[in-house]
Amino acid sequence: MAETLNSRAGIGMTSARTRGRMVERLRELGIKDEMVLSAMGEVPRHLFVDQALESRAYEDTALPIGFGQTISNPHIVARMAELARHGETGQGRPLGRVLEIGLGCGYQATVLAKLAREVVSMERIAALVGKTRVRLRELRVNNVKPKHGDGMNGAKDFAPFDAIVIAAAFGEVPQALLPQLADGARLVMPLGNQTQTLCVVERQGDTYTERLLEGVKFVPLLPGVA
Ligand code: SAH
Repeated sequence: MAETLNSRAGIGMTSARTRGRMVERLRELGIKDEMVLSAMGEVPRHLFVDQALESRAYEDTALPIGFGQTISNPHIVARMAELARHGETGQGRPLGRVLEIGLGCGYQATVLAKLAREVVSMERIAALVGKTRVRLRELRVNNVKPKHGDGMNGAKDFAPFDAIVIAAAFGEVPQALLPQLADGARLVMPLGNQTQTLCVVERQGDTYTERLLEGVKFVPLLPGVA
């Protein structure tokens, strides 16, 4: 990165006040989990996009992060975190280890890292892992572990997970991930190809219950690494 992140501390459109307005919007959109709202208020989203885009960082919009990928809009990041925490009624449960698939720029992982002890995040594009690793170090985010690899098979060595969040869409729930959920834990993902629906799978013992929620729009989950 040419500029250092510390020199982009936040004025005007990138200040804590702007972030506060974003949190109010998230409340209006129905996010209830106070821990999630507070995490969203803390993470400096503008430092996860290129400087040229930072004045738009707190709009409820997806933004390009290079390599043909996008950072998800704040509402969907908050929504997935709330679902992962079982927090739709306002309070959720604390999370130990979380698996994210689709690290991208590291924004969602950093939000999840405020709600969990540790986030293991897989990304298939090596160059993106490298860039994001540097960013997370500069921002002193110490409990996100970026991993280069195909997330389709999860991360067996780190299982079980208290939540699995997939930030890319796929036509079916990747079956390899289900046994990596801890008992009582949830997997949250966009399900479908052209038309996508937010899907939550909850594990209770050997029973997995699937719920389909609202329509969403994500980049596709792709096999293999790049
Ligand atoms: N959570 C990210 C959003 C990134 S977009 C953020 O906050 O920025 C989705 C990401 O998923 C892309 O970076 C894409 O390269 C990655 N991805 C797609 N298929 C994947 C796979 N099979 N394994 C790991 N990552 C994948």
